Amino acid sequence: MKNLFADIIISNTNVDRPFTYIIPQSLGDSVSLGCPVLIELRRKVKKGYVINIRENTDLDISKLKPIIAVSERELSTDENLLQLAIWLKHRYGVSFAKAISTVMPVKSKAEEKLNNEIFLNIELDRIDSLKEELIKLRKTAWARLLEELKTKQSLPQSYVNKELKITSTVIRRMVEEGYISVGMKIKKNNPLQPVLRSLGIEKFTEIVKSKEYVLNEEQEIAINTFKSDFDNNKRFSYLLHGITGSGKTLVFINMIKYVIEKGFKAIVLIPEISLTYQTVFRMAEHFGDRVAIINSKLSKNERYYQFDRIKNDDADVIIGPRSAIFAPIKKLGLIVIDEEHDSAYKNENVPTFNVRDVAEKLAEITNASLLLASATPTPETYNRAVNGEIKLLKLKTRAKNTALPKVSIVDMRDELKRGNRSIFSEKLRTLIEDRLKKHEQVMLFMNRRGYSSFVSCRSCGEAIKCKHCDVSMTLHNTNRLVCHYCGYSIELPHICPNCGSRYIANFGTGTQKLEAMTREEFPDARVIRMDTDSTSKKNSVNDMIRSFAKGDADILIGTQMIVKGHDFSNVTLVGIMAADTSLYVSNYNSAQRTFELLTQAAGRAGRAKDGEAVIQTYKPENYAIVAAAAQDYKKYFENEIAYRKMVGYPPECHMLTVMFSSKRDMELNKCANEIVKKIKAISEFKKTVVIGPTEPSISRVKDYYRKLVYIKNVKYDILLDIQEKIEENLSLYKNVGAVYDFN
Ligand code: ADP
Ligand code: ZN
Ligand code: ZN
Repeated sequence: MKNLFADIIISNTNVDRPFTYIIPQSLGDSVSLGCPVLIELRRKVKKGYVINIRENTDLDISKLKPIIAVSERELSTDENLLQLAIWLKHRYGVSFAKAISTVMPVKSKAEEKLNNEIFLNIELDRIDSLKEELIKLRKTAWARLLEELKTKQSLPQSYVNKELKITSTVIRRMVEEGYISVGMKIKKNNPLQPVLRSLGIEKFTEIVKSKEYVLNEEQEIAINTFKSDFDNNKRFSYLLHGITGSGKTLVFINMIKYVIEKGFKAIVLIPEISLTYQTVFRMAEHFGDRVAIINSKLSKNERYYQFDRIKNDDADVIIGPRSAIFAPIKKLGLIVIDEEHDSAYKNENVPTFNVRDVAEKLAEITNASLLLASATPTPETYNRAVNGEIKLLKLKTRAKNTALPKVSIVDMRDELKRGNRSIFSEKLRTLIEDRLKKHEQVMLFMNRRGYSSFVSCRSCGEAIKCKHCDVSMTLHNTNRLVCHYCGYSIELPHICPNCGSRYIANFGTGTQKLEAMTREEFPDARVIRMDTDSTSKKNSVNDMIRSFAKGDADILIGTQMIVKGHDFSNVTLVGIMAADTSLYVSNYNSAQRTFELLTQAAGRAGRAKDGEAVIQTYKPENYAIVAAAAQDYKKYFENEIAYRKMVGYPPECHMLTVMFSSKRDMELNKCANEIVKKIKAISEFKKTVVIGPTEPSISRVKDYYRKLVYIKNVKYDILLDIQEKIEENLSLYKNVGAVYDFN
């Protein structure tokens, strides 16, 4: 019989290409595509993955080595994910090994947690007479254990030792007598259990279905469009654009149900932050224990068991953050990305993909549909819907018969003119007092997420901007302002360059300060604060949400953590303390983030009764703020797309951000400058815009200095070519590395 050959990607080597090995006949069928193998390379045993199997090779067979074995501990990847990995490699210019590792968030089987377990070894009907004998012999411990085992069949040894107070000597003696045996039992953790328990529920089956809603007309249309496409084997990408509270969740739940009916499975991606009990509860309501759930708080083993359930067809739907896209699912029918605009969908590590793009590719590979849902889709996505590249499904009314909240903008500069230096505008204070009197609830939102502080004038509202670019400058080391786009920097001024006022301030009020001020202003109100500092414990987000939903507090203060997805029926007022914060983040999508946050935050008000929202700002004329107050996505989008066209940012073009880093400042500068010069000189790259090298907001991390270069072109492939050129040149600088981010 002829030998077959396998191309193998070896983990932990610098050589980024497949190596060919012989598949020995002894391994035969056990070597398959995507399977983990052990091979020898330069006299060392290494791990690798099979990415191709073939009958012939041009290489000298006498020099090829055989595969040593198929690795038992590692998991294999399936063919679809392998294909996805190869796409990732080319799309983001990463190594094969990195790409494969990316599509395998769970790489090895769980270390099976083996617990000593005590099993009953005799027939049940012998127990009673045996017990009597034992008691006569004063062996009460023996009798006690048999009694317990009568109903349970087996018990963990730790329980027997600790709770039943039966010593290991007794256990050994009973084993010798043949009454019991000690074995191992694999402990499988169900990570859903803690979440369910926090709801006072022991099992999925106890979740009572809430009343079935009658779908409204818009919901019907969206669902039916999807169903008929699906039936006609048309697997499209869709944007489900529905205002806050329009019932998007119910729409995609129905789509998933349909897909399952047809024998397919689904992946639902949700931003980690909103993976709370509310989501779990709703999913469990509809899919019972056929859901698998992962989140970042799961241990490696717990994650493995969830993936394992998917692999074994024990679940139909997997819900999780970004990495759930790589679940080893068979017969994928639908991928849902809820809150598609969320920045958490971007992978910060290499490869820096947005999961939207990965999902779209996976949908193509597996012939599945893709649904992106949002009240505030990214301009990139909406633009594609406008161009007809993806199908638009719309929900324009709220599902329950409540109106959108009435939103008003308060110009904080006027407050200052009237002598009000408080963080609360007159209007917001009055409304809060009113709600407290009526025993309705209030949410106060403070966006503290800014990457670093900016400086603005409290009199005229202007933030200090770069002379050369249309971005605000960022405060560094408390006394310098730096432009993140061109590197221009100035000393922090004492008076406003725009109006001459001395009320120029570093904008840094955070949620903690807001909490203190709220307590001072409304001493009788019960206040809770929710942000990453106050919710670090495993279930505290759930606990806080639950307690606020129950009415244990009057005012909930928080960061963006509180604006996502929650459905509190007694909240009738939302206050947005400083709408501008995210506008000054020096990034081209700062207006988008602002619009998103304001719309989502305002959308928390009046979910069940009519509500109101107040936006406090120093920039009442900004288009993102005006459009958010009007809850007018279209208006926002038109402005945004015009702006992006004007300044040349995605989706107008593609952008590659290169971060160079090195422990050696001088070498880094030289390298970045030289490489930029070279790129600019290459004639094929003529139509490319190159900005930089410039300082990033954090110019040194862990002793590594960093420099940024932005490269823009309408053609994605050109950016890939440039990346390759940079890599080539980079090899001349031993101490400099580069990280690439494509947008
Ligand atoms: P979105 O995700 O679009 O903001 P949700 O899916 O959270 O909205 O729905 C908002 C509220 O409306 C939820 O409480 C949901 O149970 C309810 N809802 C959804 N569809 C209907 C319907 N057809 N009739 C009545 N209530 C509905
Ligand atoms: Zn000013
Ligand atoms: Zn600048």
